[in-house]
Amino acid sequence: MSTYFSTQGQVIRCKAAVAWGPGKPLVIEEVEVAPPQAMEVRLKILFTSLCHTDVYFWEAKGQTPVFPRIFGHEAAGIVESVGEGVTELKPGDHVLPVFTGECKECRHCKSEESNMCDLLRINTNRGVMLNDGKLRFSINGKPIYHFVGTSTFSEYTVVHVGCVAKIDPEAPLDKVCVLSCGISTGLGATLNVAKPPKGSTVAIFGLGAVGLAAAEGARMAGASRIIGVDLNSNRFEEAKKFGVTEFVNPKDYNKPVQEVLAEMTDGGVDRSVECTGSINAMISAFECVHDGWGVAVLVGVPNKDDAFKTHPINVLNEKTLKGTFFGNYKPRTDLPSVVEKYMNKELELEKFITHEVPFSEINKAFEYMLKGEGLRCIIHMGA
Ligand code: NAD
Ligand code: ZN
Repeated sequence: MSTYFSTQGQVIRCKAAVAWGPGKPLVIEEVEVAPPQAMEVRLKILFTSLCHTDVYFWEAKGQTPVFPRIFGHEAAGIVESVGEGVTELKPGDHVLPVFTGECKECRHCKSEESNMCDLLRINTNRGVMLNDGKLRFSINGKPIYHFVGTSTFSEYTVVHVGCVAKIDPEAPLDKVCVLSCGISTGLGATLNVAKPPKGSTVAIFGLGAVGLAAAEGARMAGASRIIGVDLNSNRFEEAKKFGVTEFVNPKDYNKPVQEVLAEMTDGGVDRSVECTGSINAMISAFECVHDGWGVAVLVGVPNKDDAFKTHPINVLNEKTLKGTFFGNYKPRTDLPSVVEKYMNKELELEKFITHEVPFSEINKAFEYMLKGEGLRCIIHMGA
């Protein structure tokens, strides 16, 4: 039996947290959310959490500012209604929206190696829907821009069907919402991209939720040493719960951190995963891998004008540099199985959730992240 929402086909008026300008606290406003167009679905968001990518584009330092805008991309919800041509989803389905999509038809979606869908890959500057180049959010007719096609800081949002993963209806949405970005990204960066051999040494740069999920992946893969690197020493205690065995704070040394790591590991680590967004950390993460076989994986989102500078001899010496969005998972095909890893207790999510706030206090989640306090803050939309 399919659920029927009486709002189907109607404009919904609901609460959304609107960012009116760069770095300005979000304001809870009543917005109008238009019905989904062809190949779109309208979701009722129940839980959302804050990822650092939202914060970068909200601060808009070194990024293109697009305002007013509704941020948010790490979330869980229920399908309210579907647009023309949508056959895979129906009202009532439990779903995770994802910032990068899977059309299932392009060369990337058909390739086993790529999750960079031609149609729906991440686009942080576009604030409109693909279908008609228009917006689904407004306030008294004034347009409010979308963010990465998800805009989950709203009680209702419209998303392309290719950016929606249907998941086990038994999965608790207040936990698995963190799989819609950060935790899957970190886990996949290690398991799918860095692929550390059993017994290897892995360095993780940045011990936020993404980095600690990458550490969790390293532990699952059987790494014997997991070295956490962070400028915030308060991260170190918490990181032990995620299998991090040693810590390095670059501020404690007066030489580059890649040299510190080389000394600790007889020439370099076997794998490194960068989860900071800092260009310096990206370069260190590459240079700290062992020559001959080391692989570095970049995950952090850089500034618009950043340039990666390293001596080519590092590449000649057979160090490999890689990068990934969403841990190379294809959202629709692979995310349901990541949810199952939580359901069968292979993956713990509770330890990533350090704060919870009602929707009315969403700005607190930003304060925690800016202060480097805690990992993920779950925002309860209904509260
Ligand atoms: P976070 O703010 O919770 O954690 C980042 C950590 O990096 C912090 O502990 C900070 O102290 C540390 N850090 C910052 N600069 C550093 C440096 N130079 N050296 C060492 N440590 C440093 O952020 P998060 O939500 O875990 O996200 C981490 C990064 O991953 C962000 O850049 C985010 O935009 C990015 N991200 C990328 C993807 C993707 O698909 N590629 C997905 C999600 C998030
Ligand atoms: Zn994210």
